[in-house]
Amino acid sequence: MTDLHRLSIRELSEGLAEAKFSSRELTEHYLKRIEKIDAQVQSYVTVTPEQALAQADAADAAIKAGHASALTGVPIAHKDIFCTQGIKTTAGSKMLDNFISPYDATVVAKAKAAGLVTLGKVNMDEFAMGSTSESSYFGATKNPWALDHVPGGSSGGSAAAVAADLAPFATGTDTGGSIRQPASFCGLTGLKPTYGRVSRFGMIAYASSLDQGGPMARSAEDCAYLMNVMAGHDAKDSTSVQKDVDDYVANLNGTSVKGLRIGIPKQYFNVQGLDADVKTRVEESLKKLEEMGATLVEIDLTMTDAYVPTYYLIAPAEASSNLQRFDGVRYGYRCENPVDLMDLYKRSRSEGFGPEVQRRILIGTYALSAGYYDAYYVKAQKVRRLIQQDFLKAFENVDVIAAPSAPTTAYRIGANLSPVEMYLGDIYTIAVNLAGLPAINAPVGFDKDNLPVGLQLIGNYWSESQLLSVIHQYQQATDWHTKRAAIAEENA
Ligand code: GLN
Repeated sequence: MTDLHRLSIRELSEGLAEAKFSSRELTEHYLKRIEKIDAQVQSYVTVTPEQALAQADAADAAIKAGHASALTGVPIAHKDIFCTQGIKTTAGSKMLDNFISPYDATVVAKAKAAGLVTLGKVNMDEFAMGSTSESSYFGATKNPWALDHVPGGSSGGSAAAVAADLAPFATGTDTGGSIRQPASFCGLTGLKPTYGRVSRFGMIAYASSLDQGGPMARSAEDCAYLMNVMAGHDAKDSTSVQKDVDDYVANLNGTSVKGLRIGIPKQYFNVQGLDADVKTRVEESLKKLEEMGATLVEIDLTMTDAYVPTYYLIAPAEASSNLQRFDGVRYGYRCENPVDLMDLYKRSRSEGFGPEVQRRILIGTYALSAGYYDAYYVKAQKVRRLIQQDFLKAFENVDVIAAPSAPTTAYRIGANLSPVEMYLGDIYTIAVNLAGLPAINAPVGFDKDNLPVGLQLIGNYWSESQLLSVIHQYQQATDWHTKRAAIAEENA
C-alpha cells in the first residue's frame, strides 16, 4: 500500500488487527517518508530506525499471538523533551546535545507498553521556551503548509511531523500553548489536558506548575486514542492526580453539541493584533457549531490584560529554578578548560544555553530575588488566582469557552519578532495553563495565504472527554481536519 500515511489511527488499528498490513510495513513506510521528505521539513532531531523496526516486529508477533492493544504496531514520534532510555534527549538545547537518559519518561514507557513504535524524537524550542521552534539548537523546523514559515512552538517538530505525514501522531507538551499553537499553525488537532492528568515524570521541566503533556494528531478521534495511553495517575509524579481516567475513544460521542453553551469572551475578540482572517474563520466555526445546536453566550473575562505579564513572571521564575541543575558539573554541556569552579559554571551555562533561555533565567532570577520577590513573584501568584477565579465564574454559565488559539497564522521564518511581540502572541493560550484547565485546538480553515487557522475550546477541569467529543462532532460535520499540505501528498 502506498498511502498508509493517509489512514486515521482507527484505520491503522483496524488494518493491523485484520492483517491488511503489518507493523513492519507501516513502520518502513514512515521511515522511507522521513528519509525522503524530512530534509525539507526538519521535524526530526533523531530518527531511530533500528529500534523502530525491532518494536514493529515485536508488535507483529503480539498481534499474531492475540496480545495486541488498540495501538500495538502504530508508529509515533515523541517530542524531544520526553526522556527516552538509550536514545538522545536534547530538549532542543546544546546543553543536552549528548544526553542519553538512563530511563524512559512515564509517557514514553506507557507508549511502549501499549505497543506503539517509536520513529524518533522531534524538534522543539530550546527547553520549550518559544513560539516558533526557531530557538532550537538544531535549527528551525519548517511549516509543511509553507516551508518559509514556522510550524509554531514549542512543539513545532511534533506538529510539522504530523502535518507532513511523517508520523501518524505525536506527543507534545504545553506550558503556555505549545500544543495548541503549533497545532493551530499546522492545521492539526491538539489537546492540552487538565494539569495533573498526564504524568510529568521524565518530561524535562520548563515551568513545573504549568507543564502538561498531551496528544497532537489530525483529528479529535486520533487524539482520543493517544490520550487513552498518556493519561493516568503516576506515583513518580507527585502532582499527577489520582482520578479515574475516561475512555476517551468510547466517549467521542458522549457530549451533545445540541444545547452546549459556548462562552464567547468579549475581551478576546477585540485584542489588538487579532488577524482579520483568523477572526473570521473562528467566527465561522462558531456559527457552524451554532447550526449544530450550540448556544453562543457572551461572557466577560475581565483579567485578559493580565495574562501576558503574569505568565511571563511565573514561567521564567520556575524556569530559572528548574534550570539550575544544568551547571556543567553533573550532566550536560561542560565548557573547555575551566580555570576554576566559577568559570566552569559561568562558561558552561553561557555556552550551553541559547539567548532566549538565558533571557528567561535572568528575568526569573530577578523576580525571585530577595528584594523583588514580593513585588513581582508573589503579586503574580495572586493575579494568577484571580485569573483562575475569572474562568471558574464563567463556567457557572457556560460549558466551554471559545477563542482563537493564536492571534495570527504562522509567522515567516526569521521574522525576528522582539521578545515582547512574541510573548503577546501567547495571549489566548497562557491563561489556560495559569488556571490548570484543559483546552483543545481544531483546524477551522485557512487565511488568504492558505495558512491554517485554529479554533480553541477551553473546558472546565477534567473535561477532556467533552472537548474531544465536541470537536469530534464538529469534524464529522466539516472536513478541515482532512486537508493536507502539498508536501504530505508526496509519496516515498
Ligand atoms: N510560548 C510560550 C513560552 O514561550 C509557551 C511555550 C510552551 O507552552 N512550552 O513560554
